[in-house]
Amino acid sequence: MGYNEIRGNKVKEMLVYLTSSCELNCEHCFLPDEKPVKQLSLDDLDWLTKTFEIKSVNLLGGEPTRYPYLKEAIAMFDKVTISTNGLAISEDSSRSKELIDTFKSKGKNISIQLSIHGNQSDTDAVRGPGVWQRVLAAADILKKNGIACYFLSCYNSENLSHIPWIIDQISHPLNMPLTLFPEIGKPPLTVDEQKWLFATIVKKNNEYKERNLVAQPHFFQWLGMPGRCSAGSERLCLTYNKDIVPCHFDLNYILGFVGSKLEVINRNRESFLKSSKRISPSCDFCSKSDVCRSGCYISEAYTGCPLKRNFTLERYAIATHIDSAALSNQISSMRKLLKGSLICP
Ligand code: SF4
Ligand code: SF4
Repeated sequence: MGYNEIRGNKVKEMLVYLTSSCELNCEHCFLPDEKPVKQLSLDDLDWLTKTFEIKSVNLLGGEPTRYPYLKEAIAMFDKVTISTNGLAISEDSSRSKELIDTFKSKGKNISIQLSIHGNQSDTDAVRGPGVWQRVLAAADILKKNGIACYFLSCYNSENLSHIPWIIDQISHPLNMPLTLFPEIGKPPLTVDEQKWLFATIVKKNNEYKERNLVAQPHFFQWLGMPGRCSAGSERLCLTYNKDIVPCHFDLNYILGFVGSKLEVINRNRESFLKSSKRISPSCDFCSKSDVCRSGCYISEAYTGCPLKRNFTLERYAIATHIDSAALSNQISSMRKLLKGSLICP
């Protein structure tokens, strides 16, 4: 069976919006301000686990640490990633102690994704004053408790130049990978900007023997891996409105609801895969297009894919004398990070 196909009730990645509640009001947040707060019930989650065979789940919100049944939700899935703003993790709160104990009890089957938005001034401007310091404090506590964690930052052409600083000053000293995702709602990066970004990540990883990455299918294609958007095929999302949608950024394409029959959801997944995952004509030339299918349909970052200018990893490695053994170590390290967490592609 090929990529971009569905496999009965098997879903590799399920993203779940547990609650609409969040203490922040980030500038770029695309979720409506729900009043009253909407949240899933444990019965909804029970339906999810009985309907699908799920390999890995990402619990998000709103802010998932505000979900009153987070402990129970974590226990319902084998492998869990929590996407959090980090504010609930602090030195002196009983809720934080409870969360740390819950995370620790899941052992190697949990990872925590901490959101930032570039450097300190970018993050505080978008997420709120003082947020940066609190996220770093949370990272420190999670690390001290041996809980796997990584940063997720949105990028756009305005905060792009801050990425080397974040790697040098934050993610490297903390030994915490930086994963990057294009900011939805901002124009995609140009080819030259993406060339610079991809090259910077490989260069920094080579320097520090680390595994920072750009969470985009075409970045992995560029690295020689089968990067693809798995929305609708290997990936689904359950929203706090109880809708099943293909991707956590695509809340309007409804495939079914809590309680829908699997056959109905799967028929809708088939139609989605046929009609909405089209390869852009500008990618027709590309030998990787059958799998990549123009990458992330939400971010449209394919418009600036470096392969469109024949900027390949091989060419970059030759020009910069990065040896192939170092490169393959770096790539297999990224693979491990992808396996242990729930990141696109
Ligand atoms: S050129 Fe298009 S199909 Fe090929 S890797 Fe880039 S985004 Fe994917
Ligand atoms: S690659 Fe983009 S569209 Fe596909 S699942 Fe990831 S975020 Fe969604």
